[in-house]
Amino acid sequence: MTPSILFQAFSFLAGGLILGSFFNVLIHRLPKGESILFPGSHCPQCKRPVRAYENIPVLSYLLLGGRCAGCKKKISIQYPLIEGATGCLSLVIWYFIFQPYLSENHQWWAHLFLALQILSLLILIPVSLIDYYHYIIPDSISLSGLVLGLVFSFLPGDISPLESGIGILAGGGTLYLLGKVGELLFKKESMGGGDVKLMAFIGAVWGWKIALTSIIFGSFFGALLGISLIIARIIPKDRPIPFGPYLGLGFWLSVLYGEEIIRGYFAFVEQLF
Ligand SMILES: [Zn+2]
Repeated sequence: MTPSILFQAFSFLAGGLILGSFFNVLIHRLPKGESILFPGSHCPQCKRPVRAYENIPVLSYLLLGGRCAGCKKKISIQYPLIEGATGCLSLVIWYFIFQPYLSENHQWWAHLFLALQILSLLILIPVSLIDYYHYIIPDSISLSGLVLGLVFSFLPGDISPLESGIGILAGGGTLYLLGKVGELLFKKESMGGGDVKLMAFIGAVWGWKIALTSIIFGSFFGALLGISLIIARIIPKDRPIPFGPYLGLGFWLSVLYGEEIIRGYFAFVEQLF
């Protein structure tokens, strides 16, 4: 690897770790409607403010032995895990998306749209966790992402405003209809409005193809994992399954391997006949 490639990889890893630290704040504060900027981070037990040198992603947790420097109460392992996962997934994005992007020619404004696309992938980490714990997907994430996607699509590039609009309808509309069908079948609300807005956001930023494949892959994962968890009695039958994490998984798979999977699927079907 050349020094410049190493530097790029390191920047993505470091940026991801710092972003992961911010995601921890989102996960804890957004569902409570608290400000994400003030007050600064503090220990939930003794209220001691977290000093800057105790706020280094992953490293501080290890150095402090997973305990608050003030009251010695255990700090949730979820903090370093989210930071580490965001760092690792940023490296994945660097490899699969940023590297290929650099090998093509782009106008500077295309960088803006790329940054939004990268953020839309990573933001699914806190979205999934919030949905898992609270069964909500904050509008402040999905709707602001949707608006940004639509606005940025006016910059000349891969996604035109028309494509962004069709993406919103395809992503949000498909999930809305799925929810209506589920309501008729199971006689209860099966899909939250949060999922609909999330997919409209993904459609606005990535277009209808990625939105639809995300829903297909996400439904597959949801059904597969949901049913196996119920059979294994890990989750009770009447506990609702949050759809956000599965949609997130389907979204990542669509962006990284969507075309290959669909091409492979059609090649397989052709072979059958
Ligand atoms: Zn403490």
